[in-house]
Amino acid sequence: MISIKSKREIELMEIAGKIVYETHQHIKPLIKAGVSLLELDTEAEKFIISKGAKPSFKGYEGFPNATCISVNEEVVHGIPSKRKLKDGDIVSIDIGADYKGYHGDSAWSYAVGNINEEKEYLMEHTEKALFEGIKQVKPGNHVGDIGYAVESYANSHNLGIVRELCGHGVGNHLHEDPDVPNYGSKGTGPMLKEGMVIAIEPMLNLGSDDIVVESNDWTITTLDRKPSAHFEHTVLVTKDGYQILTGE
Ligand code: MG
Ligand code: MG
Repeated sequence: MISIKSKREIELMEIAGKIVYETHQHIKPLIKAGVSLLELDTEAEKFIISKGAKPSFKGYEGFPNATCISVNEEVVHGIPSKRKLKDGDIVSIDIGADYKGYHGDSAWSYAVGNINEEKEYLMEHTEKALFEGIKQVKPGNHVGDIGYAVESYANSHNLGIVRELCGHGVGNHLHEDPDVPNYGSKGTGPMLKEGMVIAIEPMLNLGSDDIVVESNDWTITTLDRKPSAHFEHTVLVTKDGYQILTGE
């Protein structure tokens, strides 16, 4: 069932989304060669708690940390470890905050120092693919319009699309209906209505679409070990369009 949020629920989700955005801004300057993933995770967790929220991911289906941190060929669900970032890495940080029972969810990929042109291209166009999807959000459009926009953009830029994972509704559960795939056909899938909140989150690869699950049962990596990027916003369907809840 797809929930329509009340005014009060939307207010709480605006706060949750803002906390997620601010957490990204807080850790962004710390993303440098030599910092460990665990240090970034700890900083993010402290920041979320300082804002009166809880990290949504900690304990979610047994996930051990506050954030998911995925480096280079890791697509999503990387577990923060003592691994240190190196110059030339790209790192995707997925952050969720639970404010009074309502969630915000946003992932962003960052460059560590100087990255090569290929990685630059991947990051630029994955972020643009996210906004192509977001532009489709308005009452009367369908979830398939979002997927179609993301897929068309990725295809025209020759990037692989992770199809096994997708965006989702967000509310008093981190993951709600509907699924929001990064592929689809125009005019198909559930219709968007004012008051729905969805996370749109393209995961695009420099190589093929294919992924594997690592032996820790969490981390997803590309099968061909080529880099992957992930950009995600939580978006509210408004009367005549959208409002990004996890942005500025
Ligand atoms: Mg996320
Ligand atoms: Mg999500």
